[in-house]
Amino acid sequence: MLEELRTQQLERIQIRGQWMKSYNFPVPPVIKEILDKTAGESTSWRPLWNGENEYQVTGPLGHFVVNMRTRRCTCRLWQISGISCVHATSCILKIRHPLTDYVPPYYSRISMSALYEHVLYPINGMENWPRNSDVGFELDPPNTKTQCGRPRKIRREETQVRFHENRVESLQRGPIITCSRCGQSGHNKRTCQNDPRVSTSQRSAPSGAQGSQVPNAQSDPPTQETTGAPSCQPPTTGPSSRNVRKAQRCGRRKTAD
Ligand SMILES: [Zn+2]
Ligand SMILES: [Zn+2]
Repeated sequence: MLEELRTQQLERIQIRGQWMKSYNFPVPPVIKEILDKTAGESTSWRPLWNGENEYQVTGPLGHFVVNMRTRRCTCRLWQISGISCVHATSCILKIRHPLTDYVPPYYSRISMSALYEHVLYPINGMENWPRNSDVGFELDPPNTKTQCGRPRKIRREETQVRFHENRVESLQRGPIITCSRCGQSGHNKRTCQNDPRVSTSQRSAPSGAQGSQVPNAQSDPPTQETTGAPSCQPPTTGPSSRNVRKAQRCGRRKTAD
């Protein structure tokens, strides 16, 4: 983009510099247009001279005081822009002075031609620049150091497929959790609803084997009670207590029915 701007400026300076050589008016065309417009509007204003440097200009918007020595007007436009306002223009035209004599020197044609007297010089394209081998040495790129806290460029974990209990697959970005109670993946110990005494191979068997698990869970607690032997797993805190409670609930429903 900078190269385009430089090329545009190269052409623009040349065109304007050539045009300024044939331009003869004392002020640039933009300033000339403003002066012509102001002179046309100043006809509705009537200046009254006080005998010294000031005028009282009367018009459709009231009275304004113009000081010709300090070049100020109470409308403040003359001292802000440097170009005479309608009130000052009416005074200048009354004393039959050219309006361009009251324009600051930075708006003159000489200043504008001085802007374009210097030109931009053309330069070669990048393919014509001298190479490092021609200079006599080869410049290496600067040494880089990985900044502290900079994020990794390569992801360590890839997206993994997660199998839910209802056999629905979904993509998971984090690590796959494994239950420490039943050994299955996809859930943890808190949400486990499997019987840890059934091995994983039996659980993955066809659905006919699942029906046989429920009677086992129902029949297990009575065997412990009838034998009276100390069980190897405490009945309340053991992993099978959840299934036992489930089986009892099912029993209550049966009795209620
Ligand atoms: Zn004014
Ligand atoms: Zn589990």
